[in-house]
Amino acid sequence: MDTAFFTAWIEESARRVAAEKDWLTGLDAAIGDADHGTNLDRGFTAVVQTLAAKEPDTPAALLNLVGVTLIRKVGGASGPLYGTAFREMSKTLGDDAEVSPAGLCDALDAGLAGVQKLGSAAEGDKTMVDALAPAVRELRRALQEGAEPREATGAAASAARAGAKATIPMQARRGRASYLGERSVGHEDPGAASAAIILTALATVAAR
Ligand code: ADP
Ligand code: MG
Ligand code: MG
Repeated sequence: MDTAFFTAWIEESARRVAAEKDWLTGLDAAIGDADHGTNLDRGFTAVVQTLAAKEPDTPAALLNLVGVTLIRKVGGASGPLYGTAFREMSKTLGDDAEVSPAGLCDALDAGLAGVQKLGSAAEGDKTMVDALAPAVRELRRALQEGAEPREATGAAASAARAGAKATIPMQARRGRASYLGERSVGHEDPGAASAAIILTALATVAAR
């Protein structure tokens, strides 16, 4: 997987976030402040513009630029969290022009660790971690069983979508939704939903 692959992933993520912007904001209206889709769409729109102007020449440089731009443009809780995830992914990749499937898995794992270090959320707290953690686990399992990247990222995306849906009965223990206490139960977490969108974009691009 080269720089063009990662660029395609980010562009596909931006397209899907734009398409699902109102749905994501609606999820955040139920248990937050109704800005998650708007926040993320603003960030990914800026990322696509920045990448078009700069064309970074390694996957690491590209993911770092994605992270920096998301931190600058998204705001809220999710901006620093997603920004950190992409920057931590970047740090694992060195100057390599090609990333192996195992390297991608290690990078995603580092991204997840960055989110958890910054936000202190565990699985079950009703956050993006509930989509990201099962996705990384499933990706690793599939690759260890010898799956092709297409199949393994597809399994990871399915796990992320299932993880996002599994936040519906949870009570939020982190972020703005936690202020609602028991009233946060019964709604899908917006950040888990957007994480599933970004992982679905990854699988889409890997299947091309
Ligand atoms: P804000 O809540 O500041 O308006 P957003 O609406 O953009 O930010 O993002 C909300 C999402 O951020 C939540 O749905 C949740 O998934 C994620 N989030 C919030 N706090 C944390 C945290 N401490 N750890 C992990 N994810 C978090
Ligand atoms: Mg919000
Ligand atoms: Mg907000």
